[in-house]
Amino acid sequence: MKGFFTNQETQSSIVMANSKKLSCMACGLYKGPLKNPKLPPFGKFKKGILNIGEFTTIADDDAGKPFQGKEHGIYSVYKQFGIDIEEDCLNINAVMCTPLERKTEKQRIPTGHEIACCTINVVNVIKTYKPKLIVLFGKIALTNVIGHVWKASLNGIDTWRGFVIPDQTFQAWIAPVFSVSYVKIKQKQEVEVIWKQDIERALSKLNEPFPIHVQPEIKIIKNLNVLDIIPNHSAIAIDFETTGKKPHVPGHWIVTCSIAINGNQVYVFKMPRSKERRLPLIRLLKNPYIKKLGHNIKYEDEWSFVILGTRIKNWFWCSMQAAHILDNRAGITNLKFQYYINFGIAGYETEVNKWMQAEDDKNANSFNKMKEFTSSPAGLLLTLTYNAYDSAYEYRLAEKQMKLIGISL
Ligand code: SF4
Repeated sequence: MKGFFTNQETQSSIVMANSKKLSCMACGLYKGPLKNPKLPPFGKFKKGILNIGEFTTIADDDAGKPFQGKEHGIYSVYKQFGIDIEEDCLNINAVMCTPLERKTEKQRIPTGHEIACCTINVVNVIKTYKPKLIVLFGKIALTNVIGHVWKASLNGIDTWRGFVIPDQTFQAWIAPVFSVSYVKIKQKQEVEVIWKQDIERALSKLNEPFPIHVQPEIKIIKNLNVLDIIPNHSAIAIDFETTGKKPHVPGHWIVTCSIAINGNQVYVFKMPRSKERRLPLIRLLKNPYIKKLGHNIKYEDEWSFVILGTRIKNWFWCSMQAAHILDNRAGITNLKFQYYINFGIAGYETEVNKWMQAEDDKNANSFNKMKEFTSSPAGLLLTLTYNAYDSAYEYRLAEKQMKLIGISL
């Protein structure tokens, strides 16, 4: 059988170490003794939902559609929420051919290489059909879709399940949930309850308009006097880019500073070496009538104390602590993760990231390469822009968290 994709469509621009492109040719699973290699998408897609399962099972291959055999349980769960899988959804698997043991022809788990090869096919389906909601069943689907956008460590499905992400790359809500097989294997009522709740939460997004991300307005300033006109009883988010994790060793420095006056407007500047030119910033940080927001506020507070000689007065919100209060799973409180799951933007740190890494990552006093990077105009501009995004995004995140908790600024 010919299959759903042409050779060109299934060739990724990602190249492996041995210089072969990730593609169906490089994968080769379609050559197996299958009835339906490269299993095509199935369903009438009336409600714009795309379900992505893990891999095509023998039962799927026999039936010519995903979610058959043990995975069939998804039909009844969706029905409980008024969704007909075949009428309302499009259904695919993250690995579209059935992986078989070579000798026994028994079904097996796909390899990392096979999963990577099929990413382009999954991405092509998303780009072709433009779903409103993408439900990712399990780690393989997570790897192929979120792994396409999120380049840091993915961790497991436990880290991601339950979030419904307004992903700006695909312009769709993305909801990672447990795989059907995991729920069946566990046979625990609590796992099934969580799974159904996650699916219900995902489906509820069909009634919400998709939020389009707007970039904040960034003002790069040299004269800090403008900070003196920030009014009392307002709130600002503060973020520093620095030469390391801890400020105590001589030579460390705050390279740039950004002050978001709301979620859409940010002042950002290279930290002046002259004390006099820094005075408007010091007055702002010391002002007890202006609320301060931040993410991991002990960091900005300590750098301010050691480098600028002042504690920051009137800390009002730490979005890192709030993230932990709202969801106490490990590994989810950093700003980049929080901004992605809440606002759908990932990877804005990519160009600056390698310069921020410590020379000796076991030594908290170690220096990174930010001084060197910001010594060129291009490096400085990238750092200022990145720094500005951080404080604006902290402000937006804080506002969203306060709304959830029921606190107003
Ligand atoms: S599993 Fe995916 S990448 Fe591999 S041959 Fe089948 S369609 Fe192509």
